[in-house]
Amino acid sequence: MQDKILQDTRDPERVAGSCLPASPARRKRIREVRIGPLVIGGEHPVSVQSMTLTDTRDVAATVEQIHRLEDAGCEIVRVAVPDDEAASALSAIKKAIHIPLVADIHFHYKLALKAIDAGVDKIRINPGNLGGEERAKVVTRAAREAGIAMRVGVNSGSLEKEIVDKYGGPTPQGMVESALGHLRFLEDEGFSNIVLSLKASNVPRMIEACTLMREACDYPLHLGVTEAGPPSTGIIKSAMGIGYLLMNGIGETLRVSLTADPVEEVRVGWEILKSLGLRSRGPMLVACPSCGRCEVDLLELTAKVEKAIAGIKKPLHIAVMGCVVNGPGEAREADLAVVGGKEKGMLLKCGKIIATLPEEELIPALLEECEKFEVSERAAGKAMVAGA
Ligand code: SF4
Repeated sequence: MQDKILQDTRDPERVAGSCLPASPARRKRIREVRIGPLVIGGEHPVSVQSMTLTDTRDVAATVEQIHRLEDAGCEIVRVAVPDDEAASALSAIKKAIHIPLVADIHFHYKLALKAIDAGVDKIRINPGNLGGEERAKVVTRAAREAGIAMRVGVNSGSLEKEIVDKYGGPTPQGMVESALGHLRFLEDEGFSNIVLSLKASNVPRMIEACTLMREACDYPLHLGVTEAGPPSTGIIKSAMGIGYLLMNGIGETLRVSLTADPVEEVRVGWEILKSLGLRSRGPMLVACPSCGRCEVDLLELTAKVEKAIAGIKKPLHIAVMGCVVNGPGEAREADLAVVGGKEKGMLLKCGKIIATLPEEELIPALLEECEKFEVSERAAGKAMVAGA
């Protein structure tokens, strides 16, 4: 099995177009796995996914939540399938949404078969907890015949007892051994449309497990810090764990797990990707922290700008700065910037002041410029500023 999954597929071109430094991990070529119309791995961008909080049996509520997730940029959605009624709802849910649907199943192999019949694009299972090898084989065969993908999820909290005993706890090495065991089983059944996840609530453990897994195989990795908690702490843990791995070229899809509206998970997932320069979607907002030089209520101004630009789809770099001392200089990198002053402020485009306006006119003028801004102006503006 090692021969099958350990391949020297390094590709130095993988970093082409990325702002990230080349690293050995990033040069490794990753298999492509199709999930409905979406492909994970290969040269495809890192995708953002989430999971619904609704009762899957309630089709209307689940579809409504998925539509909100789609609007936020969710590209793959997972629903829990705890019972037969939930499995029966999958077909109607699938027909009403526009992104790949993943059924999350534990313990009940018949639910997995029913989900596959319902036309889901992927099932998230753990082959070890489907009630025995024969049942896991039946599910694997059905998934293969349906041409769908499978995510094998290993969580440090539910690692097999014998592995925990062997390693003296839920270690990264034990998580990798568990995942390799599942891979061996699926490959022996002729199944390779696999995405792997190795999750832990402990960030260093999750990082080490995914790093070791990437060394051991070339299947796409789904990244996430599990049970990360409420946004106040969960966003930090997720950004550290997922961000560190992505920065090192590891990870082909992600889910930020938060104890919050899942739309927030999607927003944070995109912010992680945007912060690393891996993908763009809508504006990226930067703002100074404010200080004693500031003559405007910068917290209020920034909040207003953030709200005003929330619906913009164009990938703009927008800055909000608090004073003229550092403001224009700091905003030079932005496509558009607002620099606050005493009862008035400046609007900048590609580092050049284009208007000085009363405070109340700043945001409407910024929105107007956002509307007009062509991404092609960015390079021309930067060249002009550099030459000035
Ligand atoms: S831009 Fe001005 S107000 Fe903002 S932190 Fe810098 S010096 Fe302070």
